[in-house]
Amino acid sequence: LVSRKWRVRPTVLDLGDGVRIGEGSLSIAAGPCSIESEAQMEKIMQHLVDNDVRLMRGGVFKPRSSPYSFRGLGMEGLKLFHQMARARGIKIVTEVMQVSQVEEMHDYVDVFQVGARNTQNFNLLDALGGVDKPVLIKRGISGTIEELLSSAEYVFSGGNEKLILCERGIRTFETASRNTLDLNAVPILKEKTHLPVVVDPSHGIGIRDYVPTMALAGVMAGADGILYEAHEKPEEAASDGAQTLNFQESERLIRNLRKVYALR
Ligand code: PEP
Ligand code: MN
Repeated sequence: LVSRKWRVRPTVLDLGDGVRIGEGSLSIAAGPCSIESEAQMEKIMQHLVDNDVRLMRGGVFKPRSSPYSFRGLGMEGLKLFHQMARARGIKIVTEVMQVSQVEEMHDYVDVFQVGARNTQNFNLLDALGGVDKPVLIKRGISGTIEELLSSAEYVFSGGNEKLILCERGIRTFETASRNTLDLNAVPILKEKTHLPVVVDPSHGIGIRDYVPTMALAGVMAGADGILYEAHEKPEEAASDGAQTLNFQESERLIRNLRKVYALR
């Protein structure tokens, strides 16, 4: 069902208020790895509004490698996130980690994110097949392109056709970067599926200085959007600070992304 053979026309998702994801426009979603506080959200939302970015990413349930790391503000944080975003015309992309969260998060999110560690959580995918909100599925940490498509097929066949695929880097033998951003996946996915494809260069390379370059490369490779981490003070971020852009870097990237997209 997610194949171009089944549907030739590209899927374009309409999130309302003029926010679209898919062919015909470049989607930019930026925000912190983790939602931390009202003050933090105030700052980043102003940054997004100033740059006419209408999609904000930010985790309230965080999958952390260590149980001692910050694991997110949970539902309380999401409710505040939702309230503040609504007031500013911003749409929310945030990670759902388990089936029981789907229902409680539903009314407070615009796009459910399935993280790389949950790409093959088939019960979660089944649950998301039953909702009427878009789902962004990240490629698994060691997942193949075919496995990503298969995960999307779970949600689609469950009845939810509002899907976005995200290349976020895979684990390889390379140690010079956090992950290996597989830009090969972009043209391959664009040919195989009618679904929108976005690139996450932050997790893809994991090193702040290289994030903008890989974001621009993602657009040139054919991505419909870029999802990246930004924070007023990356060095103080509760998670993923080393791959997070400050506002100056983020503003410059947004400008360049739009220029490069116009060249395509
Ligand atoms: C994130 O988006 O902050 C995240 C945890 O991503 P991933 O699932 O790709 O590691
Ligand atoms: Mn992160």
